[in-house]
Amino acid sequence: MEIRLEGVTKKYKDIHAVKDFSASLPDGKLICLLGPSGCGKTTLLNMLCGIIPVTSGKIFFDQLDVTNLEPDKRHIGMVFQNYALYPHLNVRENISLGLKVRGCAKCEINRRVELASEILKLDEYLNRKPKELSGGQRQRVALARAIVREPKVFLMDEPLSNLDAKLRCEMRSEIKKLHNKLKTTFIYVTHDQTEALTMGDRIVVLDKGKIQQADTPEEIYNNPKNIFVAGFIGQMNFINVNINQGRFYVNGIEFTTDKAIAGDITVGIRTEKMLSGKTEIKIKPEIIEMSGSEKNVYFSLNNSKCSAKIPMDYNFDDKIMLNVSDMYFFDKETGERI
Ligand code: ADP
Ligand code: MG
Repeated sequence: MEIRLEGVTKKYKDIHAVKDFSASLPDGKLICLLGPSGCGKTTLLNMLCGIIPVTSGKIFFDQLDVTNLEPDKRHIGMVFQNYALYPHLNVRENISLGLKVRGCAKCEINRRVELASEILKLDEYLNRKPKELSGGQRQRVALARAIVREPKVFLMDEPLSNLDAKLRCEMRSEIKKLHNKLKTTFIYVTHDQTEALTMGDRIVVLDKGKIQQADTPEEIYNNPKNIFVAGFIGQMNFINVNINQGRFYVNGIEFTTDKAIAGDITVGIRTEKMLSGKTEIKIKPEIIEMSGSEKNVYFSLNNSKCSAKIPMDYNFDDKIMLNVSDMYFFDKETGERI
């Protein structure tokens, strides 16, 4: 099912939680809504599933206007951060409760529970209580509970943020596999750029209630539209320069650009591109951090804090190598990419 939002807005008194959100979320894709805490992700999901009304704007599921449709009639499967299983019910009862309440026939309930527990490898645990399960297993029960409703779209609100790093990694690929199997539209909310980059077919980046960019992970990474997106996804250094007749200086070393830009500009360079150019710049390392296969070296360029990601075995002689072709240029005032 394709989801289309037209100018969707949510205001709480003077707080603009979601501002004029317009997007088309394509059928069958895993779409990550990515943004920092408080940027309006949960508010947006809750409007999609109908738990809270929109202040203005319209929501369409395929051609159907669902803006004022009750949550129960929207055929949505929700998975929350806090998976809220009933502690006194076993796994089978937790998964099937929603269907029972809706008066679904017993044999149909059994069929769906069996299918979901097979997909999520929960067969052995159906008679256990939630407290007898690991965090990852509990999260799988929460997923199964959403699957048995056979929804047309899954909405997931930071479903992995309560799990430890290793389990989160495993569950990431579980959810990706689940999506490949079901081929239903998934809308997956996260503040974690790695989750969005690894899982998303599309990423919608949000900040302060507004869409910053909606694209494939590759496009978002390679062609960020503004400083916010560039800084939120991956690691980028930002350096202030003044461009005059195509010339600018980084720690006294001259660079030239043929872009028709002049004045105070913010230059962005990815931390992994600090050694891949041809123009050498001497630097003074302030901190060197080991991180296993590589090290991060911290220093200043034009008085801005910068860092470089360097392979462990690389003989780093207090110099970096930059290329103008690796640089992104941003308007210092608006933050927009030039
Ligand atoms: P996220 O899920 O991205 O962390 P939320 O959608 O929960 O962000 O919140 C977006 C903004 O709306 C925040 O500034 C939050 O404080 C505000 N907000 C959310 N719910 C309410 C509410 N019921 N009343 C007032 N403000 C709210
Ligand atoms: Mg939230």
